Amino acid sequence: MKKAVLTILLLLLIIAKYIYSQPKIDIREPNEKFLGSTISIEKGQIYSGHLLLINQGYPVQDSGIMKDIIHLSDNTFLVQGYSLLQPDIRLSEHVANEFSKMIKAAAKDGIDDFMINSGYRTFEEQEQLYLEMGTEYAMPAGFSEHNAGLSLDIGSSKMKMENAREGKWLEKNAWKYGFILRYPKKKAAITGIQYEPWHFRYVGLPHSAVIHQKDLVLEQYLKYIKKKKTIMVHLNGEEYEVSYYHLADQASIDVEVGNTYEVSGDNMSGVIVTSWEL
Ligand SMILES: [Zn+2]
Repeated sequence: MKKAVLTILLLLLIIAKYIYSQPKIDIREPNEKFLGSTISIEKGQIYSGHLLLINQGYPVQDSGIMKDIIHLSDNTFLVQGYSLLQPDIRLSEHVANEFSKMIKAAAKDGIDDFMINSGYRTFEEQEQLYLEMGTEYAMPAGFSEHNAGLSLDIGSSKMKMENAREGKWLEKNAWKYGFILRYPKKKAAITGIQYEPWHFRYVGLPHSAVIHQKDLVLEQYLKYIKKKKTIMVHLNGEEYEVSYYHLADQASIDVEVGNTYEVSGDNMSGVIVTSWEL
């Protein structure tokens, strides 16, 4: 009898833990305004930030290259739990930190054969790759997300990513850490890029959560925010206000932001302001 009660308690504990670990996203129209201050956003901000759309139509501008690019092998505390294909792999330090958190979480699930095959590439390196690999396999200089330092190609040291447990885990969980599978199988017509199970892009939270939950790609997400103008995202007990501002005709605009906020351009004609409370 005691055993049965204990088993039930244990089961309830497991279920509760599972529910708690599943972030809830509740997207709705704005119904409250965040109290904060007014900031001025300059037109140049269209071209920098974590949400830049980088594709065949929208190349990375100089200001879109992340300012915190580091050599991963120089930062051994960051490169723990995964390997590097080459010693000269670089990435935004912020992105590398978030990647590190993700790898630690995967290891807890017993998934631990990750390898980074490619990170940040200069325009010159991209041009070289494009000349060597051709249009089928590489983008010209400036048109690759790797040129901004926001993307990385993740592999498994055991097998092809398509079949690896590492790939499956990332497809399911990467959004919790701000990453998205940038070129999903079913979205090739929208992204213009064939399925790449290894290419992950950092966009940050709560954006990766909305993209995952609504089954969007970055092209669709930016369109969605632009159309809605503002959405509220409820995630892990945190409330985020995500707003789009069109800047094409003005040199700058005044925007009301929350106490804690982030501004990112869309690399097209506007900026996305994300506010939340600490
Ligand atoms: Zn890639």
